[in-house]
Order: sequence, then C-alpha cells, then structure tokens
Amino acid sequence: MNKKIKTALVCGAGGFIGSHLVKRLKKEGYWVRGSDLKYPVFSKTHADDFIIGDLTDSKIVEKVVDQNFTEIYQLAADMGGAGFVFTGENDADLMTNSCLINLNILNRLKKYPPNKIFYSSSACMYPERNQLDPNNPVCSEDSAYPAAPDSEYGWEKLFSERLYLAYLRNYKIEARIARYHNIFGPEGTWFGGREKSPAALCRKVVEAQNNSSIEVWGDGKQTRSFLFIDECIEGTRRLMQSNFKEAINIGSEEMIAINDLASMVIKISGKNLKIKNIDGPTGVRGRNSDNTLIKKQLSWAPNCKLEDGIKKTYQWITEQHQMLQKSHKKAA
Ligand code: NAD
Repeated sequence: MNKKIKTALVCGAGGFIGSHLVKRLKKEGYWVRGSDLKYPVFSKTHADDFIIGDLTDSKIVEKVVDQNFTEIYQLAADMGGAGFVFTGENDADLMTNSCLINLNILNRLKKYPPNKIFYSSSACMYPERNQLDPNNPVCSEDSAYPAAPDSEYGWEKLFSERLYLAYLRNYKIEARIARYHNIFGPEGTWFGGREKSPAALCRKVVEAQNNSSIEVWGDGKQTRSFLFIDECIEGTRRLMQSNFKEAINIGSEEMIAINDLASMVIKISGKNLKIKNIDGPTGVRGRNSDNTLIKKQLSWAPNCKLEDGIKKTYQWITEQHQMLQKSHKKAA
C-alpha cells in the first residue's frame, strides 16, 4: 500500500451512519477498512476492505486493528430507537456489548495508536432533570454533570466518553467525541423495532390507507430535534480535523413536537390521515441540541431544514416499501 495514502478504519461500517461515513471518506481519497457484524443492509459498502466480526471479541479486534491507521471512527454499538432503548428489556446486553467494543478497541490502540480516533456518543447521556420541560430542554455540553441519564444506553455512552478521555490523558490517544442528536435519513433502519421516530413515522404514513390514522407513541407533545445524515457526516469530519478534545454536540437546533413531526410527514405524503396517540416508550419530555459550543469551536453548525431531510427520507422509505411489496408478491 502507498504509504502516503491516508487510511481509515470505520467500526460499525455496516450501520446507518458508518456506511455513509465510509462513502464520504472514500470520496476524500482515504483507503478504508470497515468492520461490523454485518454488511450495510441497503447498499453495497464502499470500503476497500471489510472485516465481518464481533468487536466484543478481543481476538477479532486484534485482526481489525492490525496497523496504525491515520484515523479510526468508532461507531459500533448495540443500539436502536425508543422501542429498543427505553423498554429496559435490552439493558444488560446493550451495556455489556457496547462497553466491551470500546474497551477492546482502546486497549488495542496501546499497540497501534492512530493519529486520531472518533467516538460517537449520544445526547442520551444528558441528565433527565434538564429535559422535563418539552419547551425548554437544556442540552449544553456543560450541563452533563452531575450525571443522571434516563437510560442505561445513556449511562454507557457517558462511561465510554470518560474512557476515551482517560486514554487521551494517559496514553495520548487523540480522541474526538461527538454527542449525536437523533440522526436520520435514507438508508437508516426503517422497520424491525430498532428504527427511530422519523423513519418509524415515515413508514407508518407510507403504509396507511388514505382517510385512516397512524399511531404515535405518548401524548405527542414530547419534543426532539433531528439531524439529517449529510450534516452529521460533515460535522464528524470537521470535528476530526479540529483540535477540540472535549465532547461536543452534533445536532440540529430545530426542535419539534413529535405530533408536529407526524403532521409534517402526513403533509409531505399528501394523504388525509389522523394522529392517534397511544401508550409507548418515549424517553425524556424534551431534547434539543445546543450549538453554542460547536459554532465557537468549529465555526460551523448544521443548518439544513428538517422538512427538506424528511422529504428525502419519506421518498426513500416509499421506494423501499414498494420494493419489499414486490418481493413479497414474487415469493407468494
Ligand atoms: P446502527 O445500529 O445503524 O450502527 C451500529 C452498527 O454497530 C450496526 O451496524 C451493528 O451491526 C454494529 N455492531 C453492533 N454490535 C457490534 C459488535 N459486537 N461487533 C461489530 N459491530 C457491531 O446505528 P447508527 O445510527 O449508525 O449509530 C452509529 C453510532 O452513533 C452508534 O454508536 C450510536 O450509539 C451513535 N448514535 C447514533 C444516533 C442516531 O440517531 N443514529 C444518535 C446518537 C448516537
């Protein structure tokens, strides 16, 4: 391999954000190795090399991290939307698996340190007490402590943030940490129980007969902000190029109530549908990215309109749904 070529390892390259990131790194001229339990589901990987394996197994991590990569992006995690994270049914597995992945990788970097490693934390690590008012959630980076996330997923993210910072201090591993806020877009999971609300709502609207209704979990007044995948990747690359060494929000500040998001999707579809609010796992009452720090540190912040991203996602899920229908018909 030409020594001058920049090399990147993307852990979680079979997942939603990882597969988009691989495409971006390839466009930028990197040689890319991906690793995951699976290949991307919705398109072929663009990685030069792909190792299928379980990163909770240190022997697999030895194979995957066998050189000093220029950059490593650690996105692999056992995760999903509210239906996966907030029911409590997956807590032990998701904490064990995600911790083991991070421990194995960082431990291996003592032998093969990269120039930089990126870790994808989550807004789920913010304390519940600051997210009780749906209209005024506080998610500035300095509000993280005293810690009190509302899910074990959030606690694991917080622990792992600290783990990366400890390796930075003690082993000079140059870590960059993003707290992602609800990333969505084409090629994200859209059925099966791990999908997030934008994809779930798009799917429900696509599947609904005209003049019927769709179900929305909770009272629908809970608020969130959603970041389109292209801006997530842009923010990730900018953070990696920066010298900022603390955890930072990568999210949108365009907060919306879930019922209003559902209405947005319905409007895009052109269908006449009612919203039926039902009991379901919802997480905190309000959450929004605070982009003060990213604007200061990276002189950049996402500014894509939510509706533009939802239109693209709705279109993609419509196509996926049609393809699935066709293949079911063929199989019948
Ligand atoms: P994803 O589930 O699509 O991708 C994660 C990938 O990790 C999956 O492909 C999965 O197969 C892989 N993985 C899980 N366990 C593994 C194991 N033991 N060995 C190897 N691979 C394993 O999720 P995503 O949306 O692409 O998220 C990527 C990262 O960003 C995750 O760490 C997630 O916690 C974080 N994050 C995502 C969001 C979001 O809204 N999508 C928000 C906050 C944080």
